[in-house]
Amino acid sequence: MNRSLKLFSVRGIDLRLHITFPLILGWAALQFGMIFGSLNGAIFGIAAITILFVLVTLHELGHSFAAQYYGVPVKQIILTPIGGMAQLMRMPEKPLQELVIAIAGPAVNVVIAILMLALALSSGIELSTLLSTTGRLAGATPLSLFSYIFISNIFLAVFNLLPAFPLDGGRILRALLALRLDYARATNIAAAFGRVLAVLLGIYGLINGSFFLLLIAIFIFGAATQEARATQVSHILRGYTVQQAFSRSAFRLQPGYTLQQAANMAAYSRQRSFAVVSGDQLVGFLPHALLQSSLRTHPPYTLVSDVMISDIHPVTPELDLHVVQQRLLSEKLDALPVVSESGRILGLVTLRQIVDLFRLVQSKPPIVQGSPSA
Ligand SMILES: [Zn+2]
Repeated sequence: MNRSLKLFSVRGIDLRLHITFPLILGWAALQFGMIFGSLNGAIFGIAAITILFVLVTLHELGHSFAAQYYGVPVKQIILTPIGGMAQLMRMPEKPLQELVIAIAGPAVNVVIAILMLALALSSGIELSTLLSTTGRLAGATPLSLFSYIFISNIFLAVFNLLPAFPLDGGRILRALLALRLDYARATNIAAAFGRVLAVLLGIYGLINGSFFLLLIAIFIFGAATQEARATQVSHILRGYTVQQAFSRSAFRLQPGYTLQQAANMAAYSRQRSFAVVSGDQLVGFLPHALLQSSLRTHPPYTLVSDVMISDIHPVTPELDLHVVQQRLLSEKLDALPVVSESGRILGLVTLRQIVDLFRLVQSKPPIVQGSPSA
């Protein structure tokens, strides 16, 4: 997560650039520099890729704004050499909402294509020129740059609409299936499509020597498998609430404790994260990772209240466990404090407890092969 650089933020969504991003710029400069055999070619390549990623960002903002419209918070958009990713804090509740969120990205590219086409036609450039003037034929001119962007933008929309999970088309497919089928089953079908497409894409990439396609294929395969599994977990956890998993006897810290005392308590109790309480009211939270990093950067007599997260959103016992699981994963926490409606501290719910409950629910009851002894 820290391997990215924040550029700016829009409507509370951070736009971040992955540290490997300069690779694609270098690749483009080299590639186009060789095609055109000049410095102009290299500049053309960098300009083309930069504009292409502006289009990718607009595409991701399309998804993000649609998500926000349905009340789904968006954490950030990350740009990597193989594309952009809008990270939603949770999945939308209804299949129809997922459908709209998935369509909103490619829809942005369709609008851009129409605007570019209108601009080209009004400037007297014909469609055939626009489509045939690839950079290779016309040299590193503004017109070939315009044409390159026009074609790439259409490619973006079409590629993302392939019905392979986790591409937008796969999400649309899952949402459509989920209107009729059980959500987990719909996900499995969409993920299977995703894996088949990934393998085909990978083979095509290998035959044509396209390292880039191979990378995308590996990404799609991994993401399809991972998201299908996560959906299954939350599906199995459906119907269970925090009440059934959380620990009421979890150790607590007080704001006046020092980091050393907190570290001692962690070692003694083997508990990783702690609610910080004053009386019976929750005032903060000290997750494992924060305690560890604070011990490195602060003297041991620093007060817990100086480093704790003081605006942590606790959970209530009535909350669905799959919602908590999604939150823990997306916020990269291993536990969350549990409070009553009135804000009174009740305990801690941990990822470990959720995994244990999941295993318990998932495992079939043992078959008793007893033979009567009498
Ligand atoms: Zn998309």
